[in-house]
Amino acid sequence: MKTITDPESMSRECRDARRMGRRVGLVPTMGFLHQGHLSLVRRSRSECALTAASVFVNPTQFGPGEDFDRYPRDPDRDASLLEREGADLLFAPEAGSMYPPGHATHVEVAGLGEGLCGAFRPGHFRGVATVVAKLFNIVRPDAAYFGQKDAQQAALIRRMAADLNFGIDIVVGPTVREPDGLAMSSRNVRLSTEERRAAPALHAALTAARQAVERGTRSAAEIRELIRSRLEGTPHRLQYVEVVSASDLEPLARLQGDVLIALASHLGGTRLIDNIIVRLPGDEGKAGA
Ligand code: AMP
Repeated sequence: MKTITDPESMSRECRDARRMGRRVGLVPTMGFLHQGHLSLVRRSRSECALTAASVFVNPTQFGPGEDFDRYPRDPDRDASLLEREGADLLFAPEAGSMYPPGHATHVEVAGLGEGLCGAFRPGHFRGVATVVAKLFNIVRPDAAYFGQKDAQQAALIRRMAADLNFGIDIVVGPTVREPDGLAMSSRNVRLSTEERRAAPALHAALTAARQAVERGTRSAAEIRELIRSRLEGTPHRLQYVEVVSASDLEPLARLQGDVLIALASHLGGTRLIDNIIVRLPGDEGKAGA
């Protein structure tokens, strides 16, 4: 595996691979890698001749007072995990080479970035869309791999790639979980023992919601209430729980079609997100997020 920090060298390396007719896959990450990230690397390796992973804690997607400084980092461990997984290229740029002085262009995906996490993290999705657009232009991959865990991000990137004619296949892999159901996240290491014990309650509440849907519940308000009540008496401070269409993230009053049930919660000083998709008949023609 080759590690590259300079955007121009990365572009050159990927261009050479494309010229040789190799299908290029990109897995963008913020590092401190876990099995969720590595599942995307594996998927890319199974579908592409060259797999590039990026590790970049993107400052522009963190708001003031968010955890940019505290975000866990371990570049050496990331490199050895990627090497072991068979990635071909690791792109690990410095912030200064991604955002040199004078950088003034941003990508805003209207609508999709405003609800759910966007309502609580102003500017976050603008930062995400901008850095992913830059990575797409640097690497020019044939396919890019994202996780369902960040469902809003995946929907937004899909929209951006279509709107800006990137011509990149956006592949969304399933959420990888710990044995107790907790969605893997780089931030999980920050949980205390007690918080870690409480963390799977999010997945348990989402699972209870899925079971309620299977038993016939179709009211979004009832689903939200069910999740709220399941988290009462736990250390979770629920930030939001929403029931939206999986394709366009529009809020639903009644469940139909592909439905995304998404939530965010604070546990101590750590913010966790999770979601599930339930598939019901009723909005044929809409693609899943
Ligand atoms: P991050 O490093 O958290 O920005 O995540 C990089 C990519 O890995 C994003 O596309 C995430 O959606 C994906 N990802 C993070 N956690 C998981 C997980 N538990 N399962 C699957 N994909 C994940």
